[in-house]
Amino acid sequence: MSTYKVHNLGEGARPAPFGYSSWLDYWEKATGMKANRCHRVDCTQLLAKATDGAHVQLDNPNDNHWYIVPLCHKCNCQFGAHFTVGGPLVSATDPSVILW
Ligand SMILES: [Zn+2]
Repeated sequence: MSTYKVHNLGEGARPAPFGYSSWLDYWEKATGMKANRCHRVDCTQLLAKATDGAHVQLDNPNDNHWYIVPLCHKCNCQFGAHFTVGGPLVSATDPSVILW
């Protein structure tokens, strides 16, 4: 599984697309995985459960897509923060676009 340098966009209040109960549900259906732990590599909350489908962008000027990644609520509240997360990341506009 790859890791990605990202920043948190703080758009978590945006409603999930039709047919999904939450952005976390969106991520789970797209990846076929169950969100478990917070994906932030250096999450300070020991074994924190991922509760939020966070909106992030890669720290890569050539890719300005928005991606969804499971984070604990504390990490998701650090708007504008830069950190490293483990994949997969799911495009917020196209669930078939996944960075594994
Ligand atoms: Zn966390």
